Amino acid sequence: MTNSYIERILQEVKLNNPEQPEFIQAVTEVLTSLQKVIDAHPEYEKMAILERLIEPERAVVFKVPVEMDDHHIEVYRGYRIQHSSALGPFKGGIRFNQNVNLSVMRFLAFEQTFKNALTGLPMGGAKGGSNFSPKGKSEGEIRRFCESFMTELYRHIGPDKDVPAGDMGVGGREIGYLYGTYRRLTAESELGAITGKGVGYGGSLARKEATGYGLVYFLEEVLKKNPLNGKRVVISGSGNVAIYACQKAQQLGYQVIGMSDSKGCILDEKLDLEAVRKIKEEQRTSLEEYPQLAGHGNYFSGSIYDADFKADIVLPCACQNEIDLKRAKHIFECGVRVVVEGANMPDDNEAIAFYKENGVIFVPGKASNAGGVATSGLEMSQNSQHLNWTFEEVDSKLHNIMISIHDQCRQACKKYGLPEDDYVSGANIAGFTRVVEAMIAQGIY
Ligand code: NDP
Repeated sequence: MTNSYIERILQEVKLNNPEQPEFIQAVTEVLTSLQKVIDAHPEYEKMAILERLIEPERAVVFKVPVEMDDHHIEVYRGYRIQHSSALGPFKGGIRFNQNVNLSVMRFLAFEQTFKNALTGLPMGGAKGGSNFSPKGKSEGEIRRFCESFMTELYRHIGPDKDVPAGDMGVGGREIGYLYGTYRRLTAESELGAITGKGVGYGGSLARKEATGYGLVYFLEEVLKKNPLNGKRVVISGSGNVAIYACQKAQQLGYQVIGMSDSKGCILDEKLDLEAVRKIKEEQRTSLEEYPQLAGHGNYFSGSIYDADFKADIVLPCACQNEIDLKRAKHIFECGVRVVVEGANMPDDNEAIAFYKENGVIFVPGKASNAGGVATSGLEMSQNSQHLNWTFEEVDSKLHNIMISIHDQCRQACKKYGLPEDDYVSGANIAGFTRVVEAMIAQGIY
């Protein structure tokens, strides 16, 4: 039976945020797995811990006007949700995508708070973005958009206040324009105000690779506890997370047999990552061109999770809610027994429940994709010390952080008498506990 405090809060969240389905989904996923913690801490209700944790400290919504190449003006909406700074400066990426809205921003900022807590680094949780998509825009339009976006955002951020980074649609190019504008507006060279910068101007080696590499490091820990006979992997997405997850997986001897983008997917027993990288990072076009460029493999339009394949492991690395119950069942029929999320919330709650009922090991993104933000934290440390660490130093710290997150998840389950491979509960309990302890120590905020 659901704890009455959790039940009441879930009802209030649904009532108060009727037009925010993604936010409600994320809160439901977290709260329903905190049952045993809330049962063990009845004092949390008196302290209104859940109410205080769900409400963001600050949510900034602003207009972003931009002049396009043909001189007409478009107006986009910008967001920065500063969810919790209990553990340190707000920290979280910026997403430029046509599907960005308040619900998506709030769910991401909420999740980010627990993810950042799991890294063990002093970082609060935030997220930002805009419904502007760089896709199909000229270089000049993208640069002017970034300048306009930062012209409002700069007053809300800073190295000890709020430190944005990249996310979907925001890569090295956009971070460069955003940081340049910040520097111009503040007249300060505050390198620690943004992470994901170019290595030549304060960026960290291995940041670009970090989310994908960290995901595979986490997968390795999972497989030590739950060995599989096969190592065939399907990865959705072909962006930053997917490309470097594929690279590390191939380096460690996994056979990646499929990748995808927003229009279609490729299946190839000898997947050529260099061809994928060329198409997505250099040409910035569609995977439709893959079979011709690689000289092998097949392209299909539509989701990879509707295609037929044989695999043991799925790493969803594209976008939220890509896998619903129907696709989760299909993945299971394709032989998959381990799903480790690289994206944020790519599996909906029905898919996650199906995995649990059918013995599929499932790891939520807030644990397994935390390597990106962890390495952003390492970038902040290097910036404040005015030092650059080597690739190997950063990679080794990242590896240790992923092992630690994995162990924290299992230990949290053990403490509350749950199966140790219930990574959903483990990640939520471990992240929640760290944030709540800091909140209680700091009074009523
Ligand atoms: P990118 O923009 O680099 O890549 C996104 C990929 O997802 C592209 O291949 C894109 O295809 C595909 N995609 C976009 N929308 C859809 C859709 N509706 N259906 C199917 N595929 C889609 O983003 P990232 O790789 O940086 O981020 C991917 C996920 O990982 C996001 O959920 C992000 O929040 C999360 N994440 C990212 C981190 C990072 O460090 N970058 C850190 C932690 C989490 P196309 O090329 O056609 O647009």
